[in-house]
Amino acid sequence: MKVPFYKHNLNESDVAELLDTLSGVFLTSGPKTQSFEQKLATYLGVGGALGTTSWTTAAFLVLKAWGIGPGDEVVLPALTFIASSNVVLHCGAKPVFVDVESKTGNMDLSCVPSALGPSTRVILPVHLYGQMVDVARLAQLVRDKGIKILEDSAHCIEGTRKGAHPGQLSDAACFSFYATKNITSGEGGAVASNDLDLLEQIKLLRLHGMSLSASDRYTSLYKHWDMTVLGYKANMSDIQAALLLHQLERIDRLRERKEEICQYYEREFKAAGIGFPQVESDSISARHLFTIWAPPGQRDALLGALQKAEIGVAVNFRPVHLMSYYRERFGYCPGMFPRAERIGNQTLTLPMYPCLTDAQVEYVAKTTILEYRRLDKPCTPRCPEPTL
Ligand SMILES: *Cc1c(COP(=O)(O)O)cnc(C)c1O
Repeated sequence: MKVPFYKHNLNESDVAELLDTLSGVFLTSGPKTQSFEQKLATYLGVGGALGTTSWTTAAFLVLKAWGIGPGDEVVLPALTFIASSNVVLHCGAKPVFVDVESKTGNMDLSCVPSALGPSTRVILPVHLYGQMVDVARLAQLVRDKGIKILEDSAHCIEGTRKGAHPGQLSDAACFSFYATKNITSGEGGAVASNDLDLLEQIKLLRLHGMSLSASDRYTSLYKHWDMTVLGYKANMSDIQAALLLHQLERIDRLRERKEEICQYYEREFKAAGIGFPQVESDSISARHLFTIWAPPGQRDALLGALQKAEIGVAVNFRPVHLMSYYRERFGYCPGMFPRAERIGNQTLTLPMYPCLTDAQVEYVAKTTILEYRRLDKPCTPRCPEPTL
C-alpha cells in the first residue's frame, strides 16, 4: 500500500471559484481577497486580517511596521522551521533562541524571562504541529515591558488555547497557505490582528506603499494615487483567495477528521510504548502534523524503513541553531538547547491529513510499530541498576 506524505483537499467548489475568478477582471488583489480576509477575521474573532504572498512576507511586514531593525532582539524557540528565524535576520535584528518543552515541543515559557534583555522588542511563539503556545500566560510574562508578541501560526488556524484563537491575545498572528499547510493555495499567507492601525500600515507596505490598491483604482473612475512609505510587494491575489475561501468554510470539518486519525495513532502508539508530543487539556490542536519520537539514534533508520514500505515521511524539525548558516554566523553548537536537540534528533512526521482512508491509517500505524520494535532492540542485555 502506498501512503503519500500529504495530499491537499481541494474539491469541485474550489475549482468552480477559481474558474469564476479567471473569467473576471481581478486576478490580483480584488473582491475575493477582501472576502477571504473578512471571513478569516470573523473565523478567528479578531479585528481584521490581510492576505499576503506567504507567512514569511506577512511576518516581515509586521516586524517592519513595528520598526524592528539592527540592535533589536526577537525571542523565539529553537525548534521551528527556519523561516521563523530568517525573517528576523531579514529585518537586520537578532534572533534569540529558547529551549522547548519535552512534553509538547512548544517554546518553554519558563525559559523566556532569562532570554529577555534591554534590546528585546518581540517574542515570536510558534504553535508547533498545530498546538498553540499559552499566549495568555506569555502576555502576562511581558506585560508592561513594551514587548510585542507575534504568533507564528503557520501550523494553526483552527486551534485554540484556553478558548482563545491565534491573533486574539497577541499583537499579531501570521499564517501560511503553503502547499502542505492546513488550507492551501500553493503559496500564500495572512496576518490577523486586533490592531487596526497596524493593519492599515501593512496594507500600504504590502503594495509598494501605494495609497490605493488596483481594485480601489479601477472599480470606479480613475483616481490619482500617492506613495507615502517605501513599500514591498506581498499582496495576495484573487487566484489564491478563490482557492482558500471554501477551504476556510470546511476547516472545522477537516479538523475533525484529522482529530480522529490522530486519536487512533495516539492509542496505537501509546499501547506500543512509542513516544509522541502531548496535547494539553486546555488546548484544541489544529492537528497540522503528527509526529513520533524514534528510538535514540535510530530516527534515520526508521525514516528509511518507512519509506521502503512506501509511507511518505518528513522531519519537523531539526533545530534552527544547528543549521550551518546559524552555527557559522552565531557560533551555536550542540548542547545549547538540549530538549530542542533531543526532539530534533528523534522526531519523525507520519502522513496525517483528512483524505487518508482508515486502511491507510492502519497500515501506517502497524508498519511504524513493527519497524520501531525492530530498531528498538537493545544491543546488550540491560542489567539492573546497582543499589547503594
Ligand atoms: C511553513 C512555515 C513557515 C513559512 O511559511 P511560508 O508561507 O512558506 O513563508 C513559517 N513557520 C512555520 C512554523 C512553518 O511551518
